[in-house]
Amino acid sequence: MEISGKTVVVTGASRGIGAAIAVGLARLGAGLVLNARSEESLEGVAAECRSHGAEVRTVAGDCALDQTAQFMVKAAKVIGEFGGFVHNAGVLHPGPALWELEEARFDEVFDTNVKAGYLLAKYAVPNLRRSGGGFAVFVGSGAANYPVAGWAAYSAAKAAEHALAFNLALEAPEIYTFVYSPGTVDTAMQQAGREAPGEIARMFQGFRDGGGLLTPEFTAGKLLAILQDPQRRFHGKVASYRDA
Ligand code: NAP
Repeated sequence: MEISGKTVVVTGASRGIGAAIAVGLARLGAGLVLNARSEESLEGVAAECRSHGAEVRTVAGDCALDQTAQFMVKAAKVIGEFGGFVHNAGVLHPGPALWELEEARFDEVFDTNVKAGYLLAKYAVPNLRRSGGGFAVFVGSGAANYPVAGWAAYSAAKAAEHALAFNLALEAPEIYTFVYSPGTVDTAMQQAGREAPGEIARMFQGFRDGGGLLTPEFTAGKLLAILQDPQRRFHGKVASYRDA
């Protein structure tokens, strides 16, 4: 998959894995549409991408809103050849048992991980199909298949996000669609896990104390290597950082 000269939409690009993916894409010569809610941090990442020569537009806002998805795809078409999207934005809200989790938090987890992926597909896929292809990457998680007390909503949302990607891969076979499982990565999400109420904090502390946390740049590099492989080996599947 050729990246240079294509415009890529990246959600959740204000920090962590999404920011590293954005900078990695800029280095490869992609144009970028970057999204997250924190405008200032997003602009900081955009500036870093521009320093690598990339044309960048930012769309600050909740990626689970129809309007945000529409703006992102419109902006991608303005920059130039729209190549695809990486739906990376995600929320975990670790700690409470399912019955203790506030409804608003449950909704936020599903809206960010799942609904935003549907909305991106809604606006991006018809455009990508018209131009003969492109790619759709969903940043998923091992949590989809791994129950842990204290992340029920996240685990269910990631399983739903994976299913969304697998079905999209069947419906639009010309678009290279896969889930990317980034590994255990040293980001704000991990910190939230370590600071969570309840037993789950111990698991997150163990990830860090065991010395196994990956850097965002490392896992972003692996995703971009997988994406550039013309074999499309992971269409309709989960690719992990170990597959690069
Ligand atoms: P992070 O540091 O918390 O970053 C999450 C990003 O998503 C931020 O840019 C955040 O920006 C954005 N975001 C959250 N809600 C949003 C919304 N409603 N609309 C737009 N942007 C939103 O987390 P991360 O670790 O980099 O996670 C990135 C992805 O990797 C997620 O999908 C996560 O589930 C997945 N993942 C992470 C790990 C890990 O170990 N870190 C493991 C497996 C999977 P704002 O707050 O500014 O909106």
